[in-house]
Amino acid sequence: MLQQLDVQQELEDVYEKALRRNPGEPEFHQALREVFDTLGPVVARHPEYHEQAILQRMVEPERQIMFRVPWVDDAGVVQVNRGFRVQFNSALGPFKGGLRFHPSVNLGIVKFLGFEQTFKNALTGMGIGGGKGGSDFDPHGRSDAEVMRFCQSFMTELHRHIGEYTDVPAGDIGVGGREIGYLFGQYKRLTNRYEGVLTGKGVGWGGSLARTEATGFGAVIFADRMLATKGQSMEGQRVIISGSGNVAIYAVAKAQELGAHVVTFSDSSGYVVDEAGVDLGLLREVKEVERGRAADYVARRPGSRLIQGGRVWDVPCTVALPCATQNELDVHGAEALVRGGVVAVAEGANMPTTPDATEALQGADVLFAPGKAANAGGVATSALEMQQNAGRDPWSFSQVASRLETIMDGIHDECANTAEEYGDPGNYVLGANVAGFTKVADAMLAHGVI
Ligand code: GLU
Repeated sequence: MLQQLDVQQELEDVYEKALRRNPGEPEFHQALREVFDTLGPVVARHPEYHEQAILQRMVEPERQIMFRVPWVDDAGVVQVNRGFRVQFNSALGPFKGGLRFHPSVNLGIVKFLGFEQTFKNALTGMGIGGGKGGSDFDPHGRSDAEVMRFCQSFMTELHRHIGEYTDVPAGDIGVGGREIGYLFGQYKRLTNRYEGVLTGKGVGWGGSLARTEATGFGAVIFADRMLATKGQSMEGQRVIISGSGNVAIYAVAKAQELGAHVVTFSDSSGYVVDEAGVDLGLLREVKEVERGRAADYVARRPGSRLIQGGRVWDVPCTVALPCATQNELDVHGAEALVRGGVVAVAEGANMPTTPDATEALQGADVLFAPGKAANAGGVATSALEMQQNAGRDPWSFSQVASRLETIMDGIHDECANTAEEYGDPGNYVLGANVAGFTKVADAMLAHGVI
Protein backbone atom coordinates (compact mmCIF):
# COMPACT_ATOMS: atom_id res chain seq x y z
CA MET A 1 0.00 0.00 0.00
CA LEU A 2 1.26 3.46 -0.84
CA GLN A 3 1.94 5.85 2.02
CA GLN A 4 -1.00 8.17 2.69
CA LEU A 5 1.30 11.14 2.05
CA ASP A 6 2.30 9.83 -1.39
CA VAL A 7 -1.33 9.38 -2.33
CA GLN A 8 -2.25 12.95 -1.42
CA GLN A 9 0.80 14.19 -3.32
CA GLU A 10 -0.13 12.09 -6.35
CA LEU A 11 -3.69 13.46 -6.37
CA GLU A 12 -2.39 16.99 -5.95
CA ASP A 13 0.13 16.55 -8.80
CA VAL A 14 -2.46 15.21 -11.23
CA TYR A 15 -4.87 17.97 -10.27
CA GLU A 16 -2.25 20.73 -10.65
CA LYS A 17 -1.19 19.39 -14.02
CA ALA A 18 -4.82 19.26 -15.18
CA LEU A 19 -5.26 22.91 -14.11
CA ARG A 20 -2.19 23.97 -16.11
CA ARG A 21 -3.34 22.00 -19.13
CA ASN A 22 -6.88 23.37 -19.05
CA PRO A 23 -6.47 27.06 -18.23
CA GLY A 24 -9.48 29.33 -17.81
CA GLU A 25 -11.97 26.51 -17.19
CA PRO A 26 -13.14 27.11 -13.59
CA GLU A 27 -16.14 24.75 -13.73
CA PHE A 28 -13.97 21.88 -14.96
CA HIS A 29 -11.43 22.60 -12.22
CA GLN A 30 -14.22 22.60 -9.65
CA ALA A 31 -15.57 19.24 -10.84
CA LEU A 32 -12.06 17.75 -10.71
CA ARG A 33 -11.42 19.15 -7.23
CA GLU A 34 -14.67 17.76 -5.90
CA VAL A 35 -13.86 14.24 -7.10
CA PHE A 36 -10.17 14.32 -6.17
CA ASP A 37 -10.96 15.47 -2.62
CA THR A 38 -12.67 12.16 -1.96
CA LEU A 39 -10.35 9.72 -3.75
CA GLY A 40 -7.44 9.49 -1.26
CA PRO A 41 -8.57 6.29 0.48
CA VAL A 42 -9.46 4.42 -2.72
CA VAL A 43 -6.18 5.28 -4.45
CA ALA A 44 -4.33 4.22 -1.30
CA ARG A 45 -6.04 0.83 -1.46
CA HIS A 46 -5.25 0.32 -5.14
CA PRO A 47 -1.60 0.97 -6.02
CA GLU A 48 -2.34 -0.39 -9.51
CA TYR A 49 -4.36 2.76 -10.25
CA HIS A 50 -1.23 4.79 -9.63
CA GLU A 51 1.04 2.40 -11.55
CA GLN A 52 -1.21 2.48 -14.60
CA ALA A 53 -1.71 6.28 -14.45
CA ILE A 54 -5.47 5.85 -14.23
CA LEU A 55 -6.05 9.33 -12.79
CA GLN A 56 -3.86 11.05 -15.38
CA ARG A 57 -5.75 9.27 -18.13
CA MET A 58 -9.16 9.88 -16.60
CA VAL A 59 -8.82 13.67 -16.49
CA GLU A 60 -7.92 13.80 -20.18
CA PRO A 61 -10.97 13.39 -22.45
CA GLU A 62 -10.57 10.68 -25.07
CA ARG A 63 -11.59 13.11 -27.80
CA GLN A 64 -12.75 16.74 -27.98
CA ILE A 65 -14.56 18.09 -31.00
CA MET A 66 -15.20 21.81 -31.63
CA PHE A 67 -16.86 23.07 -34.75
CA ARG A 68 -18.45 26.00 -36.55
CA VAL A 69 -22.24 26.05 -36.73
CA PRO A 70 -23.37 28.55 -39.40
CA TRP A 71 -27.08 29.09 -40.01
CA VAL A 72 -29.43 31.71 -41.42
CA ASP A 73 -31.98 33.40 -39.15
CA ASP A 74 -35.52 34.42 -40.12
CA ALA A 75 -34.34 37.88 -41.15
CA GLY A 76 -31.88 36.32 -43.62
CA VAL A 77 -28.86 37.17 -41.48
CA VAL A 78 -26.05 34.62 -41.24
CA GLN A 79 -25.37 33.57 -37.65
CA VAL A 80 -22.34 31.65 -36.41
CA ASN A 81 -22.30 29.57 -33.24
CA ARG A 82 -19.76 27.16 -31.82
CA GLY A 83 -20.52 23.46 -31.37
CA PHE A 84 -18.87 21.03 -28.94
CA ARG A 85 -18.79 17.34 -28.23
CA VAL A 86 -16.40 16.10 -25.57
CA GLN A 87 -16.13 12.30 -25.63
CA PHE A 88 -14.77 11.87 -22.16
CA ASN A 89 -14.56 8.20 -21.31
CA SER A 90 -15.75 5.04 -23.06
CA ALA A 91 -14.39 2.43 -20.64
CA LEU A 92 -17.88 1.25 -19.71
CA GLY A 93 -19.77 1.73 -22.97
CA PRO A 94 -20.45 4.19 -25.79
CA PHE A 95 -20.09 7.84 -24.83
CA LYS A 96 -23.41 9.04 -23.44
CA GLY A 97 -24.58 12.42 -22.23
CA GLY A 98 -26.65 15.40 -23.16
CA LEU A 99 -26.32 18.40 -25.46
CA ARG A 100 -26.76 21.81 -23.88
CA PHE A 101 -27.81 24.86 -25.93
CA HIS A 102 -27.25 27.95 -23.80
CA PRO A 103 -25.24 31.16 -24.28
CA SER A 104 -22.97 30.21 -21.34
CA VAL A 105 -21.73 27.01 -23.04
CA ASN A 106 -17.97 26.87 -23.59
CA LEU A 107 -15.36 24.12 -23.64
CA GLY A 108 -14.77 24.25 -19.86
CA ILE A 109 -18.46 23.84 -19.08
CA VAL A 110 -18.78 20.93 -21.50
CA LYS A 111 -15.71 19.29 -19.93
CA PHE A 112 -17.04 19.63 -16.40
CA LEU A 113 -20.31 18.09 -17.51
CA GLY A 114 -18.58 15.27 -19.41
CA PHE A 115 -16.31 14.46 -16.48
CA GLU A 116 -19.25 14.27 -14.05
CA GLN A 117 -21.28 12.31 -16.58
CA THR A 118 -18.64 9.56 -16.67
CA PHE A 119 -19.08 8.79 -12.97
CA LYS A 120 -22.84 9.30 -13.04
CA ASN A 121 -23.21 6.86 -15.91
CA ALA A 122 -20.95 4.36 -14.15
CA LEU A 123 -23.23 4.53 -11.10
CA THR A 124 -26.23 3.50 -13.19
CA GLY A 125 -24.49 0.19 -13.91
CA MET A 126 -25.95 0.20 -17.42
CA GLY A 127 -22.89 0.04 -19.65
CA ILE A 128 -22.62 3.66 -20.76
CA GLY A 129 -19.51 5.84 -21.01
CA GLY A 130 -19.46 9.59 -20.44
CA GLY A 131 -19.65 12.51 -22.86
CA LYS A 132 -21.29 15.89 -23.22
CA GLY A 133 -21.79 18.51 -25.87
CA GLY A 134 -23.71 21.54 -26.92
CA SER A 135 -23.47 25.03 -28.27
CA ASP A 136 -23.58 28.66 -27.21
CA PHE A 137 -26.77 28.94 -29.29
CA ASP A 138 -29.71 30.40 -27.33
CA PRO A 139 -33.04 28.88 -28.39
CA HIS A 140 -35.02 31.45 -26.35
CA GLY A 141 -36.89 33.84 -28.58
CA ARG A 142 -36.03 31.86 -31.71
CA SER A 143 -38.75 30.57 -34.02
CA ASP A 144 -39.22 26.85 -34.63
CA ALA A 145 -37.80 27.33 -38.12
CA GLU A 146 -34.65 28.97 -36.74
CA VAL A 147 -34.19 26.21 -34.16
CA MET A 148 -34.60 23.65 -36.95
CA ARG A 149 -32.01 25.27 -39.19
CA PHE A 150 -29.60 25.55 -36.30
CA CYS A 151 -30.09 21.88 -35.33
CA GLN A 152 -29.61 20.76 -38.93
CA SER A 153 -26.36 22.69 -39.22
CA PHE A 154 -25.16 21.39 -35.84
CA MET A 155 -25.87 17.78 -36.85
CA THR A 156 -24.29 18.20 -40.27
CA GLU A 157 -20.95 18.26 -38.46
CA LEU A 158 -21.78 16.12 -35.41
CA HIS A 159 -23.16 13.11 -37.32
CA ARG A 160 -19.74 11.81 -38.35
CA HIS A 161 -18.67 11.52 -34.70
CA ILE A 162 -21.67 9.71 -33.20
CA GLY A 163 -23.62 6.47 -33.63
CA GLU A 164 -25.60 3.99 -31.55
CA TYR A 165 -22.42 2.08 -30.56
CA THR A 166 -20.11 5.11 -30.55
CA ASP A 167 -21.71 8.09 -28.87
CA VAL A 168 -25.37 8.65 -28.03
CA PRO A 169 -26.27 12.28 -27.21
CA ALA A 170 -29.49 13.40 -25.52
CA GLY A 171 -31.00 16.60 -24.18
CA ASP A 172 -29.85 18.94 -21.43
CA ILE A 173 -30.60 22.63 -20.79
CA GLY A 174 -32.17 24.14 -23.94
CA VAL A 175 -32.45 20.79 -25.72
CA GLY A 176 -35.81 19.04 -25.39
CA GLY A 177 -38.12 17.01 -27.58
CA ARG A 178 -38.30 19.62 -30.35
CA GLU A 179 -34.52 19.90 -30.73
CA ILE A 180 -33.97 16.12 -30.49
CA GLY A 181 -36.53 15.69 -33.28
CA TYR A 182 -34.72 18.07 -35.64
CA LEU A 183 -31.33 16.60 -34.74
CA PHE A 184 -32.56 13.05 -35.31
CA GLY A 185 -34.16 13.93 -38.66
CA GLN A 186 -30.91 15.38 -39.96
CA TYR A 187 -28.83 12.44 -38.65
CA LYS A 188 -31.14 10.00 -40.42
CA ARG A 189 -31.00 11.96 -43.63
CA LEU A 190 -27.21 12.24 -43.67
CA THR A 191 -26.41 8.67 -42.68
CA ASN A 192 -29.36 6.81 -44.19
CA ARG A 193 -29.69 4.97 -40.87
CA TYR A 194 -32.64 4.79 -38.48
CA GLU A 195 -30.92 3.92 -35.23
CA GLY A 196 -30.96 4.75 -31.54
CA VAL A 197 -28.29 7.45 -31.92
CA LEU A 198 -30.09 9.96 -29.71
CA THR A 199 -32.26 9.53 -26.63
CA GLY A 200 -35.13 11.69 -25.51
CA LYS A 201 -36.83 10.99 -28.81
CA GLY A 202 -40.58 11.41 -29.33
CA VAL A 203 -42.61 8.54 -27.96
CA GLY A 204 -44.14 7.77 -31.38
CA TRP A 205 -40.76 7.29 -33.08
CA GLY A 206 -38.39 5.49 -30.75
CA GLY A 207 -38.57 7.51 -27.54
CA SER A 208 -39.23 5.97 -24.15
CA LEU A 209 -42.23 6.74 -22.01
CA ALA A 210 -41.18 8.38 -18.73
CA ARG A 211 -37.87 9.70 -20.15
CA THR A 212 -39.03 13.31 -19.78
CA GLU A 213 -40.08 12.68 -16.19
CA ALA A 214 -37.13 10.49 -15.23
CA THR A 215 -34.55 12.98 -13.92
CA GLY A 216 -36.97 14.82 -11.63
CA PHE A 217 -38.67 11.61 -10.51
CA GLY A 218 -35.30 10.01 -9.78
CA ALA A 219 -34.03 12.96 -7.72
CA VAL A 220 -37.11 12.85 -5.49
CA ILE A 221 -36.88 9.05 -5.12
CA PHE A 222 -33.25 9.50 -4.09
CA ALA A 223 -34.20 12.16 -1.53
CA ASP A 224 -36.89 9.85 -0.19
CA ARG A 225 -34.39 7.01 0.27
CA MET A 226 -31.93 9.32 2.03
CA LEU A 227 -34.66 10.50 4.37
CA ALA A 228 -35.54 6.87 5.10
CA THR A 229 -32.08 6.41 6.65
CA LYS A 230 -33.26 8.92 9.29
CA GLY A 231 -36.69 7.35 9.72
CA GLN A 232 -38.38 9.98 7.52
CA SER A 233 -39.81 10.15 4.00
CA MET A 234 -40.91 12.78 1.48
CA GLU A 235 -44.39 12.71 2.95
CA GLY A 236 -45.22 15.91 4.77
CA GLN A 237 -41.96 17.63 3.80
CA ARG A 238 -41.97 21.29 2.85
CA VAL A 239 -40.03 21.42 -0.40
CA ILE A 240 -38.38 24.22 -2.35
CA ILE A 241 -37.33 23.62 -5.93
CA SER A 242 -35.31 25.87 -8.22
CA GLY A 243 -35.67 25.81 -11.99
CA SER A 244 -38.67 25.15 -14.21
CA GLY A 245 -37.29 22.90 -16.93
CA ASN A 246 -38.20 19.23 -17.19
CA VAL A 247 -36.08 18.28 -14.16
CA ALA A 248 -37.82 20.80 -11.89
CA ILE A 249 -41.31 20.17 -13.27
CA TYR A 250 -41.18 16.42 -12.69
CA ALA A 251 -39.48 16.85 -9.33
CA VAL A 252 -42.56 18.89 -8.37
CA ALA A 253 -44.79 16.10 -9.72
CA LYS A 254 -43.05 13.28 -7.87
CA ALA A 255 -42.70 15.22 -4.61
CA GLN A 256 -46.44 15.97 -4.67
CA GLU A 257 -47.23 12.34 -5.48
CA LEU A 258 -45.25 11.29 -2.41
CA GLY A 259 -47.21 13.68 -0.22
CA ALA A 260 -44.81 16.62 0.01
CA HIS A 261 -45.79 20.29 -0.12
CA VAL A 262 -43.85 22.11 -2.87
CA VAL A 263 -43.83 25.89 -2.53
CA THR A 264 -41.37 27.25 -5.11
CA PHE A 265 -39.93 27.08 -8.62
CA SER A 266 -37.81 29.60 -10.53
CA ASP A 267 -36.54 30.79 -13.88
CA SER A 268 -34.08 33.45 -14.98
CA SER A 269 -36.63 36.17 -14.17
CA GLY A 270 -36.85 35.24 -10.46
CA TYR A 271 -38.48 32.73 -8.15
CA VAL A 272 -42.12 32.04 -7.43
CA VAL A 273 -43.47 31.35 -3.96
CA ASP A 274 -46.83 29.63 -3.95
CA GLU A 275 -47.76 28.81 -0.36
CA ALA A 276 -50.89 26.94 -1.43
CA GLY A 277 -48.62 24.48 -3.23
CA VAL A 278 -47.29 24.77 -6.80
CA ASP A 279 -50.07 24.12 -9.35
CA LEU A 280 -48.43 21.46 -11.50
CA GLY A 281 -50.99 21.70 -14.31
CA LEU A 282 -50.52 25.45 -14.64
CA LEU A 283 -46.72 25.19 -14.38
CA ARG A 284 -46.70 22.64 -17.22
CA GLU A 285 -49.05 24.73 -19.34
CA VAL A 286 -46.89 27.86 -18.94
CA LYS A 287 -43.51 26.17 -19.38
CA GLU A 288 -44.10 23.19 -21.65
CA VAL A 289 -46.87 24.47 -23.91
CA GLU A 290 -46.49 28.25 -23.96
CA ARG A 291 -42.70 28.40 -23.32
CA GLY A 292 -43.68 31.30 -21.02
CA ARG A 293 -42.10 33.05 -18.02
CA ALA A 294 -42.66 32.82 -14.26
CA ALA A 295 -44.77 36.01 -14.45
CA ASP A 296 -47.25 34.19 -16.69
CA TYR A 297 -47.81 31.65 -13.90
CA VAL A 298 -48.21 34.30 -11.20
CA ALA A 299 -50.68 36.27 -13.32
CA ARG A 300 -53.01 33.26 -13.36
CA ARG A 301 -52.43 31.97 -9.83
CA PRO A 302 -53.88 34.17 -7.06
CA GLY A 303 -51.82 34.13 -3.88
CA SER A 304 -48.50 33.30 -5.63
CA ARG A 305 -45.70 35.85 -5.80
CA LEU A 306 -42.76 36.41 -8.13
CA ILE A 307 -39.63 37.57 -6.34
CA GLN A 308 -36.99 39.13 -8.52
CA GLY A 309 -33.36 39.53 -7.56
CA GLY A 310 -33.55 37.41 -4.39
CA ARG A 311 -32.62 33.80 -3.81
CA VAL A 312 -35.03 30.93 -3.45
CA TRP A 313 -32.92 29.40 -0.64
CA ASP A 314 -34.26 32.05 1.76
CA VAL A 315 -37.67 30.34 1.70
CA PRO A 316 -37.79 28.05 4.77
CA CYS A 317 -38.07 24.37 3.91
CA THR A 318 -37.17 20.88 5.06
CA VAL A 319 -36.12 19.58 1.63
CA ALA A 320 -34.37 21.59 -1.10
CA LEU A 321 -33.97 20.39 -4.68
CA PRO A 322 -31.70 22.61 -6.81
CA CYS A 323 -32.82 21.76 -10.34
CA ALA A 324 -31.68 24.78 -12.39
CA THR A 325 -27.97 24.99 -13.19
CA GLN A 326 -24.37 24.84 -11.94
CA ASN A 327 -23.30 26.89 -8.92
CA GLU A 328 -26.79 28.24 -8.22
CA LEU A 329 -26.53 27.35 -4.50
CA ASP A 330 -23.62 29.16 -2.85
CA VAL A 331 -22.50 29.21 0.78
CA HIS A 332 -24.89 32.03 1.70
CA GLY A 333 -27.74 30.05 0.22
CA ALA A 334 -26.62 26.96 2.14
CA GLU A 335 -26.50 28.93 5.39
CA ALA A 336 -30.00 30.26 4.71
CA LEU A 337 -31.23 26.70 4.12
CA VAL A 338 -29.73 25.54 7.41
CA ARG A 339 -31.33 28.48 9.25
CA GLY A 340 -34.63 27.59 7.60
CA GLY A 341 -34.50 24.05 8.97
CA VAL A 342 -33.46 22.02 5.92
CA VAL A 343 -33.02 18.28 6.50
CA ALA A 344 -32.10 17.06 3.00
CA VAL A 345 -30.75 18.52 -0.24
CA ALA A 346 -30.70 16.50 -3.48
CA GLU A 347 -29.16 17.94 -6.64
CA GLY A 348 -31.44 17.62 -9.67
CA ALA A 349 -29.11 19.81 -11.74
CA ASN A 350 -25.44 19.13 -12.47
CA MET A 351 -23.13 20.64 -9.81
CA PRO A 352 -25.63 23.28 -8.60
CA THR A 353 -23.97 23.47 -5.17
CA THR A 354 -20.63 25.24 -4.77
CA PRO A 355 -17.91 23.38 -2.80
CA ASP A 356 -18.17 25.65 0.26
CA ALA A 357 -21.96 25.32 0.23
CA THR A 358 -21.64 21.52 0.17
CA GLU A 359 -19.27 21.74 3.11
CA ALA A 360 -21.67 24.00 5.03
CA LEU A 361 -24.56 21.58 4.48
CA GLN A 362 -22.56 18.49 5.38
CA GLY A 363 -21.12 20.31 8.40
CA ALA A 364 -24.67 20.98 9.63
CA ASP A 365 -25.54 17.28 9.24
CA VAL A 366 -27.88 17.90 6.33
CA LEU A 367 -28.38 14.83 4.10
CA PHE A 368 -26.73 15.85 0.83
CA ALA A 369 -27.04 13.97 -2.48
CA PRO A 370 -24.66 15.03 -5.28
CA GLY A 371 -26.10 15.29 -8.79
CA LYS A 372 -24.06 12.44 -10.18
CA ALA A 373 -26.10 10.14 -7.94
CA ALA A 374 -29.38 12.01 -7.44
CA ASN A 375 -29.98 13.04 -11.06
CA ALA A 376 -28.74 9.80 -12.65
CA GLY A 377 -32.35 8.71 -13.28
CA GLY A 378 -32.43 10.71 -16.51
CA VAL A 379 -29.48 9.09 -18.17
CA ALA A 380 -30.43 5.69 -16.73
CA THR A 381 -33.77 5.99 -18.49
CA SER A 382 -31.91 7.00 -21.65
CA ALA A 383 -30.15 3.63 -21.35
CA LEU A 384 -33.59 2.02 -21.04
CA GLU A 385 -34.56 3.87 -24.23
CA MET A 386 -31.48 2.40 -25.96
CA GLN A 387 -32.53 -1.02 -24.73
CA GLN A 388 -36.06 -0.56 -26.10
CA ASN A 389 -34.65 0.64 -29.45
CA ALA A 390 -32.29 -2.32 -29.72
CA GLY A 391 -35.10 -4.75 -28.96
CA ARG A 392 -37.76 -2.88 -31.02
CA ASP A 393 -39.92 -3.26 -27.95
CA PRO A 394 -41.53 -0.16 -26.45
CA TRP A 395 -42.31 -0.51 -22.76
CA SER A 396 -45.28 0.84 -20.80
CA PHE A 397 -44.93 3.89 -18.57
CA SER A 398 -45.19 1.77 -15.45
CA GLN A 399 -42.54 -0.69 -16.70
CA VAL A 400 -40.06 2.15 -17.23
CA ALA A 401 -41.04 3.91 -13.99
CA SER A 402 -40.60 0.77 -11.94
CA ARG A 403 -37.16 0.07 -13.50
CA LEU A 404 -36.24 3.67 -12.69
CA GLU A 405 -37.24 3.19 -9.08
CA THR A 406 -35.15 0.02 -8.80
CA ILE A 407 -32.17 1.78 -10.39
CA MET A 408 -32.42 4.76 -8.02
CA ASP A 409 -32.67 2.40 -5.04
CA GLY A 410 -29.56 0.63 -6.26
CA ILE A 411 -27.60 3.87 -6.70
CA HIS A 412 -28.67 5.08 -3.28
CA ASP A 413 -27.63 1.87 -1.58
CA GLU A 414 -24.34 1.64 -3.44
CA CYS A 415 -23.41 5.21 -2.46
CA ALA A 416 -24.47 4.64 1.16
CA ASN A 417 -22.61 1.31 1.42
CA THR A 418 -19.46 2.70 -0.18
CA ALA A 419 -19.46 5.66 2.20
CA GLU A 420 -19.78 3.25 5.09
CA GLU A 421 -17.06 0.97 3.76
CA TYR A 422 -14.71 3.96 3.55
CA GLY A 423 -15.46 5.02 7.11
CA ASP A 424 -17.70 8.03 6.48
CA PRO A 425 -21.31 6.86 6.75
CA GLY A 426 -23.89 9.23 5.29
CA ASN A 427 -21.33 10.98 3.05
CA TYR A 428 -23.04 10.53 -0.31
CA VAL A 429 -20.46 12.71 -2.07
CA LEU A 430 -17.70 10.30 -1.11
CA GLY A 431 -19.91 7.29 -1.80
CA ALA A 432 -20.87 8.45 -5.30
CA ASN A 433 -17.36 9.50 -6.30
CA VAL A 434 -15.63 6.39 -5.03
CA ALA A 435 -18.23 3.92 -6.34
CA GLY A 436 -18.34 5.59 -9.79
CA PHE A 437 -14.57 6.02 -10.00
CA THR A 438 -13.84 2.41 -9.07
CA LYS A 439 -16.05 1.01 -11.85
CA VAL A 440 -14.43 3.22 -14.50
CA ALA A 441 -10.91 2.63 -13.16
CA ASP A 442 -11.28 -1.16 -13.11
CA ALA A 443 -12.56 -1.24 -16.69
CA MET A 444 -9.67 0.98 -17.78
CA LEU A 445 -7.19 -1.35 -16.08
CA ALA A 446 -8.69 -4.33 -17.89
CA HIS A 447 -8.42 -2.59 -21.28
CA GLY A 448 -4.71 -1.82 -20.96
CA VAL A 449 -3.00 1.46 -21.71
CA ILE A 450 -5.31 3.08 -24.25
N1 GLU B 1 -28.36 15.68 -19.68
C1 GLU B 1 -28.77 14.63 -18.79
C2 GLU B 1 -27.73 14.44 -17.71
O1 GLU B 1 -27.14 15.39 -17.29
C3 GLU B 1 -29.16 13.36 -19.52
C4 GLU B 1 -28.12 12.74 -20.38
C5 GLU B 1 -28.60 11.56 -21.21
O2 GLU B 1 -29.74 11.15 -21.08
O3 GLU B 1 -27.77 11.06 -21.98
O4 GLU B 1 -27.50 13.37 -17.18
